[in-house]
Amino acid sequence: MSEGAAKKEEKPRKFQAIRGTRDLLPPETALWNRVEQTADEVFSTFGFGEIRVPIFESTDLFARSIGAETDVVSKEMYTFGGFAEFSARVREGRVEGMLSEMSPEEMISLRPEATASVCRAYIEHNMQQLPQPVKLYYMGPMFRRERPQKGRYRQFYQIGAEVLGGSDAPAIDAEVIEMVMTFFDRLELQGAQLDINSIGDRNCRPKYVELLRAELLKVRDNPATAGRLGPDTLRRIETNPLRVLDSKLESEQAIIAKLPRIADHLCEECAAHYAAVKHQLEMRGVIYRENWRLVRGLDYYMRTTFEITAQGLGSQNAVCGGGRYDGLVELLGGPPTKGIGFAIGEDRLILSLQESGKAPTQQGRDVYIAWMGERAHATAIRAAKDLRKAGFSVELPPVEQKFGKALGQADKLGAKYALILGDNEVSEGLWTLKTLADGSQAKFTEPDLLEHLRKQKAGGL
Ligand code: ATP
Ligand code: MG
Repeated sequence: MSEGAAKKEEKPRKFQAIRGTRDLLPPETALWNRVEQTADEVFSTFGFGEIRVPIFESTDLFARSIGAETDVVSKEMYTFGGFAEFSARVREGRVEGMLSEMSPEEMISLRPEATASVCRAYIEHNMQQLPQPVKLYYMGPMFRRERPQKGRYRQFYQIGAEVLGGSDAPAIDAEVIEMVMTFFDRLELQGAQLDINSIGDRNCRPKYVELLRAELLKVRDNPATAGRLGPDTLRRIETNPLRVLDSKLESEQAIIAKLPRIADHLCEECAAHYAAVKHQLEMRGVIYRENWRLVRGLDYYMRTTFEITAQGLGSQNAVCGGGRYDGLVELLGGPPTKGIGFAIGEDRLILSLQESGKAPTQQGRDVYIAWMGERAHATAIRAAKDLRKAGFSVELPPVEQKFGKALGQADKLGAKYALILGDNEVSEGLWTLKTLADGSQAKFTEPDLLEHLRKQKAGGL
């Protein structure tokens, strides 16, 4: 190829992260780490252990647990053909109509949430034989094909916990909620608002849902009101009337306000359970607001449901959703098992912390070593090693720089100190430490320097 032809070649394609996914970069990742570490710390003080479940599972697991009619399963999952059949058909060129013809057991989906997987793991590992309840937490990416916007992504992160087995004592519900609130408190999340509700159980909920459907059908079939219902609600009257209560559509609000309330239709057991949960929250000093319109988007929830909202998030302001799901393990082929859990939207939690100024703005360095000369370089390498061993973050420039330039660089990196090492310092054994905030300088012997920095750090400087 001639040189001329090579020049005309197209530029290589520039790739971008796929819509709804994003890179998390420093210094923001430092905040992600702090949040996850705080979750580890707080949840383990409540006796929870970490579980890590796979990123993909059988599609059937999600369809059966979350519910085939839910938005998540019917519209939002990333589903692939099972590998063996899929690759055989691709190899043989039999790809037409492939996805619709594949057997459901062959399909796999990226997890849209983790509760189903945790329940699967509970059954698979016979965890009902462990002391009950089993208390587990998880964190990691989830995948839903939703319209991306602020606080809503196609790959997003959740931190969640589940309590499986044992009893359904209201104190368990309250303690789980107390744990989330403690976690948010520890992070100094601003304006965390807890809403609670009870959505009944398989005795009373179906009757209430039918009542709701009947009322909504009256609205729909009355020419005076029919036009006020949006397409989502019209669909949900058939598929999932409870979700109508969730609607934010302006024209529906007056109608929803007049719908029957579940609190008036709970069976005796559910009503008693709900009252006891509230009492237990009060005993723990957890402040809540009752919200009769709070329902969850996933089918498996019953009785206690809750949601926590936070500041600075616009309309995607829910940072945590959770509730009780006593029938779920059994539904997945396990023994009858009580269950309650929650999932925190980590992306939104981080956004809210950033909006309220609780985030680090720069990944700082403790010490920038400004060295000049071959001998000083050897000393600088040794100093960096010792300082790092003592836990300081150190920037050691790879090539010699004039001191002026080095100090400018130290400033740009947000270093707290510059350690100046030239021929004089090395031969005298006295190192110069410059505090960049005020420009003050002092000389130290090597051991004194380490001691001085340790004291400053312990004092929060
Ligand atoms: P929403 O009503 O906001 O869609 P949801 O009811 O679908 O929430 P859950 O399935 O209960 O949410 O998940 C718990 C939490 O996970 C939510 O409160 C939210 O903080 C977060 N979350 C859910 N979907 C997304 C997403 N696509 N992007 C970012 N966070 C999400
Ligand atoms: Mg959703």
